[in-house]
Amino acid sequence: MLKRLLLELAESRTLRRWLEQSRVGQRLAARFVAGRELDAALAAIARLAAADMQATLDHLGENVTTEAKAMEAAASAAASLEAIAARGLPADISVKLTQFGLDLGEESAWRNLARVAERARALNSRVEVDMESSAYTAATLRLVERAHAERLPIVAVLQAYLRRSADDLERLCRQAIPVRLVKGAYREPAAAAFQSKHEVNANFLRLMRRLLTGPGGAAIATHDPALIAAARAQARELGLAPQRFEFQMLYGIRRDLQQALTAEGWRVRVYLPYGAEWYPYFMRRLAERPANLLFLLRQLAKS
Ligand SMILES: Cc1cc2nc3c(=O)[nH]c(=O)nc-3n(C[C@H](O)[C@H](O)[C@H](O)COP(=O)(O)OP(=O)(O)OC[C@H]3O[C@@H](n4cnc5c(N)ncnc54)[C@H](O)[C@@H]3O)c2cc1C
Repeated sequence: MLKRLLLELAESRTLRRWLEQSRVGQRLAARFVAGRELDAALAAIARLAAADMQATLDHLGENVTTEAKAMEAAASAAASLEAIAARGLPADISVKLTQFGLDLGEESAWRNLARVAERARALNSRVEVDMESSAYTAATLRLVERAHAERLPIVAVLQAYLRRSADDLERLCRQAIPVRLVKGAYREPAAAAFQSKHEVNANFLRLMRRLLTGPGGAAIATHDPALIAAARAQARELGLAPQRFEFQMLYGIRRDLQQALTAEGWRVRVYLPYGAEWYPYFMRRLAERPANLLFLLRQLAKS
């Protein structure tokens, strides 16, 4: 109920304008976002690297409404690849296709994705393609598969809450496309997505087993201790070396767990967002854990 309300609020333009521009907004964002500028994000990646963790850099933004904005987002993604390479940091990038113009047409998003992925290939890096709401799933996977067919270094994301994900995973495994598996963060109807935690977790376990036995790279992206324990058990049972897959977690969430897994010798990658357009990302993080609302209320009370 509260989760649904927060995800609805995520679409509020008025609240977004006010929070993104206010000082209290900056304080709130710092909980989950590495900074407004690329330099701050690069410094955070260097700190993670010093602690033996890799990163995925995400320049926040989604649902652009003009070609110019989409091209700007692609230029920024390419520039972050260059900056990462110039500093020799252990990081790739993640992008959203609605940030690259998917609402303006699939070809528009394709041109921008291909341009950025070509830069990634030249720099020996890769591009992870975040999965957005189910309205975009089919088109996003079409473009990911097209990029892979053109030998561009691409990573798909599948959401365990979607009923269609088992079929999608089979198809991606047949093509050996690397996959990041997540639970899913958007408001979805029951026709498209499992609604209970129990069903989502059960599907996550099923998909994870298939992914870990597949030919592509696997990223298990969750902070859920039970699923992480299951991943470790499955990896041991399958005799997978720790290098065959990685755990991924979000910047600012369960740092203790990130460090503990790294200390045990598992590969850990932290998804690290930066930029001024943090509001929808922030609201999805609040909705995941309504206890985070207390944090929001405390910050508002201080202001
Ligand atoms: C690396 C990465 C990339 C992602 N990419 C996508 C994507 O492309 N598309 C998409 O739809 N979703 C994405 N997500 C989000 C994902 O779908 C979930 O919404 C999110 O990870 C929370 O689910 P969970 O698996 O951690 O399990 P949950 O059951 O939600 O949480 C398990 C535990 O983790 C901690 N926790 C989880 N979330 C929070 C939070 N916000 N604040 C504080 N503690 C928290 C709590 O201790 C909680 O008990 C991504 C997640 C990760 C880790």
